[in-house]
Amino acid sequence: MTSIPSSLPLRNDLIGEEPYGAPQLDVPVCLNVNENPYPLDDEVADTIARRVREVAQNLNRYPDREHIKLRQAFCDYLAYESGTRLGVEQLWGANGSNEIMLQIFQAFGGPGRTALGCDPTYSMYPEYARDTFTSWKVIHRKGDFTIDLDKTIEGITSIGPSIVLLTSPNNPTGTNLPLSDVKTLLAICEQTQVAGAQEGTHPVVIIDEAYVEFRNPGTPSAVSLIPEHHNLAVSRTMSKAFAFAGARVGYLAADAGIIDCLRIVRMPYHLSAITQAAALAAFEHTDLQLKRVAKLRETREETAAWLRSQQYHGSNLQVADSESNFLLFGKFDDRMLVFNKLLSRGILIRVVGPDHWLRVCMGTEREMSTFRTAFAEVLATID
Ligand code: PMP
Repeated sequence: MTSIPSSLPLRNDLIGEEPYGAPQLDVPVCLNVNENPYPLDDEVADTIARRVREVAQNLNRYPDREHIKLRQAFCDYLAYESGTRLGVEQLWGANGSNEIMLQIFQAFGGPGRTALGCDPTYSMYPEYARDTFTSWKVIHRKGDFTIDLDKTIEGITSIGPSIVLLTSPNNPTGTNLPLSDVKTLLAICEQTQVAGAQEGTHPVVIIDEAYVEFRNPGTPSAVSLIPEHHNLAVSRTMSKAFAFAGARVGYLAADAGIIDCLRIVRMPYHLSAITQAAALAAFEHTDLQLKRVAKLRETREETAAWLRSQQYHGSNLQVADSESNFLLFGKFDDRMLVFNKLLSRGILIRVVGPDHWLRVCMGTEREMSTFRTAFAEVLATID
């Protein structure tokens, strides 16, 4: 709870608002914020310490505002990870993809503008909209959490949003967005006039690929569409598969024109020299950083199968198909009861998404075994 004195001139639209964030509790098993549960290898941690030491002496100077070396490292990583080679001018970094997204809203949103997404989806999107005075509109996903393409097209053409923000894999459902749908929406956006903007302007399409490295092998990334589409941007992060959440590094791949728009709104020197050095050091060990991704994918499949075999009120539990490192499962009459019973056994998951569903993120083998034992006990007490 916040305790803000009423004498403070907080913006009217922020009165009564709470700071966003999942609970940070000191419990034995944290499966609530979709982190990579495996710590960094000693070798990587040592390189990071060395590279940070190298820049420490120069901390009297501002860092490279354009973070060119890091943008080059993003290019190399994307070429390696998704097979598309872009130029440095097509990459941009910030403090987490949260900051990337805020910059997108600062550049393309604003009063009189609308951003459109498909819910249930990432709960920070409405907050970027609120903070930039952008209106946030949603089209509901279908029962299986795939997007409703027809309704989304109708929404785009009737509203004329300046931002179309889609998530693949989606949080909190884990649902993949097929590239064929992205292409269809790009084609629609390329013919749509943005309401309240200059004649001839079209919506930017943002695909948030925070969890994309966990996708099933063979699924292409939307990055492959960037060379043909000036209005497409793909947001990525080092926080999840790359096991680097604590360093706060996200990045955007897009046409150089979109990057130039973000350069207008970014804070000067937004990425510290320490952040840049740490991220570059981690990219010296890309394979080590990614080595648990396949394992986490396996854990996801095993956990999904196990959850689907569990009985609640005489029927099997439902689990949304996920290409991410988390699973949305349910449905529970009282999800808070299940959440609290797990918490009392030392396991923190997340109450998020549609009512009656819960989200659990994949942990180490030991953590998942503790989760399974505790969850089976909880089910036995409430069934
Ligand atoms: N996008 C999605 C869909 C997310 O789930 C998250 C984090 N939970 C983010 C973006 C932001 O991640 P970060 O700022 O750590 O890059």
